[in-house]
Amino acid sequence: MTGKLSKVVVVGAGPSGLLLSLLLAKHGVPVELLEATHELDNQPRAAHYSSPAVYELRRAGVIDDVIERGFKPSAFCWRKPNGEMIGYLKFDVDPDDPMRMVVLPLDRLGKLLYEHLQRYPVASVKWGHRVVALGEDADKAWVQAETENGLVTIEGDYVIGADGANSFIRRTLFGGQASFPGETLNATIIATNVIHDFTKYGYWDTNYIIHPTNWHMVARIGRDDHLYRVSYSEVPGLTKEEYIKRQPARFKELLPGNLEPSDYKITNLNPYRLQQRCAPAFRKGRFVLVADAAHVCNPFGGLGLTGGIADVGSLFDCLYGIYTGRADDSILDKYAEIRRKIYKEVIDPASRENFRRLYELDPETAKDDEFFKTLKKAETDKDLARELNKGLNVLIHDFTQYYNPPQDAKL
Ligand SMILES: Cc1cc2nc3c(=O)[nH]c(=O)nc-3n(C[C@H](O)[C@H](O)[C@H](O)COP(=O)(O)OP(=O)(O)OC[C@H]3O[C@@H](n4cnc5c(N)ncnc54)[C@H](O)[C@@H]3O)c2cc1C
Repeated sequence: MTGKLSKVVVVGAGPSGLLLSLLLAKHGVPVELLEATHELDNQPRAAHYSSPAVYELRRAGVIDDVIERGFKPSAFCWRKPNGEMIGYLKFDVDPDDPMRMVVLPLDRLGKLLYEHLQRYPVASVKWGHRVVALGEDADKAWVQAETENGLVTIEGDYVIGADGANSFIRRTLFGGQASFPGETLNATIIATNVIHDFTKYGYWDTNYIIHPTNWHMVARIGRDDHLYRVSYSEVPGLTKEEYIKRQPARFKELLPGNLEPSDYKITNLNPYRLQQRCAPAFRKGRFVLVADAAHVCNPFGGLGLTGGIADVGSLFDCLYGIYTGRADDSILDKYAEIRRKIYKEVIDPASRENFRRLYELDPETAKDDEFFKTLKKAETDKDLARELNKGLNVLIHDFTQYYNPPQDAKL
């Protein structure tokens, strides 16, 4: 064993739990990953990962595979309901920028992370382990998981709650519903994965359509299979079956081409309520929260998992510092304090603004909004375009600066 840590237990094999386990295992830190289900999630969720996530995917050694299976989108744009352009931001100002956004649907990313994780004997992944109890003493933290063979107890120096928005770890530490203060926005979206070629309507890689009620997004998420994510607004309060029934009419109403169901193939559909929520603290004793277990936001602008992956990178640096004896346990308080501040001061307001832009602006006058005036300027001002592309790098925070100074530096 190196330093003051012999094993980390991670609860939840979503993208954040898989990535944290991979970063730890790659650096020799023993890790046990517990997942309630028997397979990776395939719901239509994250697909776009901005520069802070790219930075961590590179550190984990998976970025080349992500790019090979996915792609680097060339632009985001905003349109009127008739398809007319309002404004755009191109991502290819620096085509070879190593931090450039990548796209890969979440289920494909999860598969890739799991493939890489299996290469490291210090990592073990336990499927069918649903955590139902937890506790700690002075030396260890433990969880109990329900399995096919009954309850098992697993202990480690730290337990990481990467168990998503409905986190059992968070609810147990901070008290049920009260553990996730914030807001459910008055909006429902239906996220669909659909195979159809939208380039024939002149659509770009990612298209946001601005409208007070019919706002929606059409974004290419497949490398070369015409796989698109279409996420559109719906009336709240219906059942999934009712939303499925309404989908063909909604597509016809919202999308170009007067589409009939025979014109496209839906491979996945799920309704979501949009939420902005943050745990009261990201750490309690030997338990630490990460990604959706710690905070959630609406998906417009792709800040959810990108913010979660930035947490993962920070938490890895803290745990690795403890493992190697270069940091003490108090570095996890820094993690909890700084990552929560970043959610409150950047992710929460920026994601709300991304959503507001879709429904609050009048599409006919939207170009006069300050945001679109800035985008207009960036069409010809390369430095400004570069600055806008790098804007989300504020989510990255270097926690190695809180490592203890080397002994000889104190002399
Ligand atoms: C429609 C939509 C589009 C999105 N698009 C983007 C995007 O483009 N870019 C972006 O950055 N983000 C996006 N997001 C957000 C993103 O999908 C989430 O932030 C991300 O999936 C969270 O990952 P996670 O690993 O924290 O949690 P999850 O993916 O929820 O994984 C949690 C895991 O924990 C397991 N688990 C739960 N409870 C237990 C338990 N008690 N014991 C053991 N295991 C347990 C679950 O089975 C699950 O596998 C989008 C979200 C939605 C809804």
